[in-house]
Amino acid sequence: MSEEKRTEIGELGEFGLIDRIKEKFKVSNESTIMGIGDDAAVLEVTDKLTLLSTDMLVEGVHFDLSYMPLQHLGYKAVSVNVSDIAAMNGVPKQITVNLGLSNRFSVEAVEALYEGIQFACQDYKIDLVGGDTTASSSGLIISVSIVGEVTKNKVVYRNSAEENDILCVTGDLGAAYLGLQVLEREKEVFKANPEMQPELGLYEYLVKRQLKPKARMDIIHELAELEIIPTSMIDISDGLVSEVFHICKQSDLGVAIFEEKLPIDQETYNAAADFKVDPTTCALNGGEDYELLFTISQSDFEKVKNHAEISMIGYMDKKEKGRNLVSKNQNVIALQAQGWKHF
Ligand code: ADP
Ligand code: MG
Repeated sequence: MSEEKRTEIGELGEFGLIDRIKEKFKVSNESTIMGIGDDAAVLEVTDKLTLLSTDMLVEGVHFDLSYMPLQHLGYKAVSVNVSDIAAMNGVPKQITVNLGLSNRFSVEAVEALYEGIQFACQDYKIDLVGGDTTASSSGLIISVSIVGEVTKNKVVYRNSAEENDILCVTGDLGAAYLGLQVLEREKEVFKANPEMQPELGLYEYLVKRQLKPKARMDIIHELAELEIIPTSMIDISDGLVSEVFHICKQSDLGVAIFEEKLPIDQETYNAAADFKVDPTTCALNGGEDYELLFTISQSDFEKVKNHAEISMIGYMDKKEKGRNLVSKNQNVIALQAQGWKHF
């Protein structure tokens, strides 16, 4: 936390703090009738479907403030929620933010957190319409709830993939996981020798992927322009394999993924070599990429085949065929989900 100015939250009081937050946030969505300031936010219900989702981030479990700047944490807390709305093929509209704050946190620290939340609200065109603020006896807890909307016939679930559908993924995989490894390693170096400045420059992209993930709303808008409605979709928070298993289980299908088709950034390859881990394993099981994993019917193949940000990595198969990885040397290996274990 910044050493500069420190205002205790007690000096402003909870309401003073909320007023400061409220001042900085302007409402931009038509569906936001009343934002921060009354007992409840008021939203205009449309003829669309309303999406509602929540994600909670807990210090020491989901983030470590020794390398997570508060602005980034605010941005990330919003992004992970937007990603869930994107995964339903929806558009985010409003969020509420619940905070558990220990007395380690000053007013300036809370403002830094909200700066990141504000950046995210601008990027994703969403309104902050409320929240709750409470004391926490241990670490920082930040829980964001999000409201989104989707046209009735465009909502996409996990359970509607069909045999022979093409499995697609956006962006690249494994970078956020390796970014975390870089940050953890530098933290150890830093602990051992406080004079040492962390060397993050080499892996700038990976670290950014870990600290400031961006939800793929760009893809949701492009799919709409291309008139593609995925047959199923999920966002990748726990790793590709774990997510594809959700689609398989809920759609009652098997899957084949081609190792050579996995999108992996050059920096991810470099860091994987550095950390002596297999880049394919990072792409398959690394968490927190917040990319979209979706299936499309074969008839949409032409529309996505040249898209720079969409990789076709496999296809949905009969359940009896199992869930397999076809390796670069054509071995068929059963996929193993490792997931992201906090417990
Ligand atoms: P109540 O006691 O009725 O729950 P609060 O005093 O907690 O009301 O909140 C007053 C207003 O400020 C409400 O609109 C609430 O949603 C909003 N609010 C409270 N905490 C936060 C926060 N951390 N971020 C954004 N808005 C908040
Ligand atoms: Mg309250």
